[in-house]
Amino acid sequence: MQASAIEDLRSSARGDVVTPEDPGYDEARRVHNWMIDRRPAVIVRCADTTDVMATVRCARDNDMLLSVRGGGHSVPGFGTNDGGVVADLSPMRGVRVDPVTRMARAQGGCTWGDMNHATYGFGLAVTGGIISTTGIAGLTLGGGIGYLARGHGLSLDNLISVDVVTAEGDFIVANEAEHADLFWALRGGGGNFGVVTSFEYRLTACKDIFAGAFFYPLERAGDVLDFYRGFIRTAPEDLGLFAGFHLVPPLPFVPEEYHGDPAVVMVACWNGPMEQGERVLAPIRDSAPRLGEMMEPMPYPVLNSAFDELVGPGLQHYWKTAFATELTDGAIEAHLEYAQRVPTVNTAVHLYSINGACHRIAPQATAFANRDATFATVIGGMWPDPADNERNIAWVKDYYAALAPHSSAAAYVNFMSADDGARLPESYGDNYGRLQEVKRLYDPDNFFRMNQNIQPAPTAAATG
Ligand SMILES: Cc1cc2nc3c(=O)[nH]c(=O)nc-3n(C[C@H](O)[C@H](O)[C@H](O)COP(=O)(O)OP(=O)(O)OC[C@H]3O[C@@H](n4cnc5c(N)ncnc54)[C@H](O)[C@@H]3O)c2cc1C
Repeated sequence: MQASAIEDLRSSARGDVVTPEDPGYDEARRVHNWMIDRRPAVIVRCADTTDVMATVRCARDNDMLLSVRGGGHSVPGFGTNDGGVVADLSPMRGVRVDPVTRMARAQGGCTWGDMNHATYGFGLAVTGGIISTTGIAGLTLGGGIGYLARGHGLSLDNLISVDVVTAEGDFIVANEAEHADLFWALRGGGGNFGVVTSFEYRLTACKDIFAGAFFYPLERAGDVLDFYRGFIRTAPEDLGLFAGFHLVPPLPFVPEEYHGDPAVVMVACWNGPMEQGERVLAPIRDSAPRLGEMMEPMPYPVLNSAFDELVGPGLQHYWKTAFATELTDGAIEAHLEYAQRVPTVNTAVHLYSINGACHRIAPQATAFANRDATFATVIGGMWPDPADNERNIAWVKDYYAALAPHSSAAAYVNFMSADDGARLPESYGDNYGRLQEVKRLYDPDNFFRMNQNIQPAPTAAATG
């Protein structure tokens, strides 16, 4: 890259322009997964949409790879690269809530913590992730699974409009009326089509919720999962619920003697009438004898940040994932075998339920095709010591290999690792061809390729 191009960026950008010579470089190049150790040529901490347009044009004019970073949580580390340009939107964190229309407009660098804090004051929220530090951008563009999904759909189902910087560095608006093809593709197609500088969401009533976290001994995992698969089919939709496997963290509501033991957990979020909370959660609590439990009313942002520390920055990440319409006996057996060897307290195996409102959207209505999936399973390997990488990656891969015959071939793009790209056609199903067409229209050169990449459909000239 020409030194003059960096100087031009420095003089025009409102945000910081960070290069390897700058003192903040090592901090600026980091992403959430510390297994990723890359050295971009320049990182632009974009202050506004004009900075984003300038960064895109600079990368394009200099024929350089561009990474776009929102919350930086991509497990494959798509928010950084070696030798290229990073458009880091993390300084762009404004949220405007309109309580009358029940809509919010949030800038592309917001985290779910920013979003939930801003909307909570109005007694409103939108489906977001279960951790507060994940970016709204990557999470929404790939899907958006969280506590409110059964009641109100995925994050992307609540999008009204987005502001986009294109591969040419131009600004456009995409919604049902303008660039509707792009709006369709952005709802599930991830970062393939442009840089979203702001998201407009439809909000739902949500302030204080009734939450529960239940820890059961691993020997009762069969009972708990058997309960879960039946209960979730007809459970009220204002209930968000997932089952999972963890080593018991040092939580005050679980006796110390169990800390560090493998356990099966259920985490519940009831967003219905508060007085019904205990009654709705009681069957979950009673599905098996418990090691410990917490069940109480709390502000929604408190639940959203309750597990942040377990998966804070500094960990190595390797994840695998699959959807399932049914939680079969075979799947439960695979879980029972591998959950005995959950390697660290940070590791999370979660089976999120995504039925209810998520199922009422047609598979072709947005790019997210998997509207018959009841469970999105993630085997989220996370550990602090790089010396354990080989062993822990092998555990994740073996676990997934055992689960795969009992799962759908499709998987959630946001939970995939870097080596899962070949799973995209199956994961998008009948929507894949249309995504390739939209990619050809908006990014024929595949300029946006630091993502779970969708190749542009060949042009008419190329196909002869
Ligand atoms: C600890 C942890 C918890 C998680 N919990 C959940 C969860 O509860 N539910 C869930 O659904 N997912 C969850 N995820 C997965 C998460 O959805 C993905 O990792 C997602 O890609 C993160 O988005 P980000 O903006 O933080 O990441 P980034 O690394 O910044 O970006 C991810 C992808 O999105 C693209 N992108 C980022 N910003 C923009 C933008 N403004 N415009 C266009 N493209 C952009 C990037 O180029 C990249 O390809 C979790 C991940 C982690 C690590």
